[in-house]
Amino acid sequence: MDSRLEAVRDTVLARNPGEKEFHQAVIEVFESLGPVHDRHPEFLEGAVLERLCEPERQIIFRVPWTDDAGRVHVNRGFRVEFNSALGPYKGGLRFHPSVYLGIVKFLGFEQIFKNALTGMPIGGGKGGSDFDPRGRSDAEIMRFCQSFMTELYRHIGEYTDVPAGDIGVGGREIGYLFGQYKRITNRYESGVLTGKGISWGGSLVRPEATGYGTVIFAQEMLKTRGQSFDGQRVVVSGSGNVAIHAIAKAQFLGATVVACSDSAGYIVDEAGIDVALLSQVKEVERGRLTDYAARRPGSNHVAGGSVWDVTGTVALPCATQNELDGDAAAKLVSNGLIAVAEGANMPSTRSAVSVFQEAGILFGPGKAANAGGVATSALEMQQNASRDSWSFEHTEQRLTEIMVGIHDRCAATADEYGAPGNYVVGANIGGFVKVADAMLAQGLI
Ligand code: GLU
Repeated sequence: MDSRLEAVRDTVLARNPGEKEFHQAVIEVFESLGPVHDRHPEFLEGAVLERLCEPERQIIFRVPWTDDAGRVHVNRGFRVEFNSALGPYKGGLRFHPSVYLGIVKFLGFEQIFKNALTGMPIGGGKGGSDFDPRGRSDAEIMRFCQSFMTELYRHIGEYTDVPAGDIGVGGREIGYLFGQYKRITNRYESGVLTGKGISWGGSLVRPEATGYGTVIFAQEMLKTRGQSFDGQRVVVSGSGNVAIHAIAKAQFLGATVVACSDSAGYIVDEAGIDVALLSQVKEVERGRLTDYAARRPGSNHVAGGSVWDVTGTVALPCATQNELDGDAAAKLVSNGLIAVAEGANMPSTRSAVSVFQEAGILFGPGKAANAGGVATSALEMQQNASRDSWSFEHTEQRLTEIMVGIHDRCAATADEYGAPGNYVVGANIGGFVKVADAMLAQGLI
């Protein structure tokens, strides 16, 4: 890495101690940026990177709530408003016990570049809580969401900051959050949240968008080598919103998805995963993959272990950060892998990415490959702003165009900066240059 970048990086790491996921995300971006600074000395002079790594605003707040037995709990809420050079802060809320400032900052930092790559007018932000929704009743989830919004409402707005879902936050939670926002502000401000229900301002295709987009991105990568999803054997991690729709799209394009996972283990289903059953078990019943295996003849459940032990030609990590390490990557490569597209945010460790790249595997990093979710959120904002709602076909067409555009921009940027085929370099530089130009144009802010 360039010594000037190294100095900035070291300052950022020292200034944000203990935030290891944020460090990882920063290091990964800096490693791509050397050639940009050779061509654009104005970025260094304007201290763009120093500014980019310091969020514009960070909010941490108390979230008290009562469980069904009347006991009081206290969680911590976060919203990191990272960068508004290109539009209002935009990014999801994650409810998971692992959430702390370092996770929210890594996600918010990645979101800046991801959102820039979509070509839509959205800045970067992220939020969430260390609240664990698992095993909680609907009433408990509602009380938690209402308490969370009772602080968050003062920081967000359709022109300011537009949260959405992420792990642990789906349509149900967005509904409770929106209801509380409306109640406190006395405004039906549709554009304040995305991922809303279809009858009250949501967009068709938003639930499918991240998973579909990841597969569309992977399909574009495969095309560069004269291949497609048809006939591929696909391994997916996770079994939530992103995974389910990635599986559906990959199978629609002719692949067989033979495995997916949850935190207790994974299933192998050689006939191809039954998406309707998976969705029923995970989304309707909020059950476990053991329930899927019990109801699906020919499938089997493996408790614990790693889904990456399953042989496949395409891997779609759609669970969470750092779920695929160097050893898992080496195993996938020796089992005949040709492509990886990240449906989750930073699911591959830095050593896994090196293994893939050294082996010449097509590798689509999350900030490009999973941008379809937030891009469709931006389409939801457009529909809200014009009080319109688009058909499924039209919205899916827009999503496809956006994903193909992101793919092509990453590929062209990688070529331009001397790293053909390297989508990590393409995504990092493509996203960065757009944000950096806007920051310089807007003066020292
Ligand atoms: N949480 C998603 C992401 O990681 C979606 C964010 C949004 O729709 O605002 O990009």
